[in-house]
Amino acid sequence: MLDEVKWGHSKIRYTYEYKNRKTLSIHVSPDLTVSVDAPHGTTVEKIRGKILKRAAWIKKSQREFELYLPKQPARRYINGESHRYLGRQYRLRAIKGAEDSVKCYRGYFHVTCKNKVTPENVKELLDQWYSNKADLVFSKRYEECCNTVKRIGVKPAPLTIRLLKTRWGSCTKSGKIVLNLELIKAPTECIDYVITHELCHLKEHNHSQKFWNLLGKVLPDYEKRKMRLNQYSDL
Ligand SMILES: [Zn+2]
Repeated sequence: MLDEVKWGHSKIRYTYEYKNRKTLSIHVSPDLTVSVDAPHGTTVEKIRGKILKRAAWIKKSQREFELYLPKQPARRYINGESHRYLGRQYRLRAIKGAEDSVKCYRGYFHVTCKNKVTPENVKELLDQWYSNKADLVFSKRYEECCNTVKRIGVKPAPLTIRLLKTRWGSCTKSGKIVLNLELIKAPTECIDYVITHELCHLKEHNHSQKFWNLLGKVLPDYEKRKMRLNQYSDL
């Protein structure tokens, strides 16, 4: 049977089934669906109460699975389509208005176009927004990561942000760090992974065991972050 509860500004939809069991269990599947196995006789209210009690966990699990969903098809910049920012999905809502603006909140990208609302105009505004956010977010993350790698003797290097076709970041021979603008769509923990990875290349220029050991010293859970980035990747 199907039911849903309101939680903050969002809804949680779920199916429930009565089973021969003593306790109620909630399950979140990789396709983001939520199912409940309840003991016979459990009231609908009681199930709703349990869902609300676990709501934060359900949403968190869904967000995690969301990152592993199949790669996003090419964006068309039309209303209702989802776009990512820092690992989360936001639905696009574009309207005509007095001036150009992009705001991102409560699950939506609210885009206002001074000119006609066309996919080209929406894309331009959104790209500009991503680029501004990348400047802000990456600089802040970069500063933090530079502080962390100081203790393994890595000195900060200049940072450049560009659109790269095949990689998330690179460390040039002349010792500059380049980050892919697209990385702004990935979760912060993955951004930190790429930055720290590239910073470690300033000391170890290859992917030898020595390099991974160095990275492990400052980012012990780097494998988890790396895996998350790979599975999430649109590249
Ligand atoms: Zn590398």
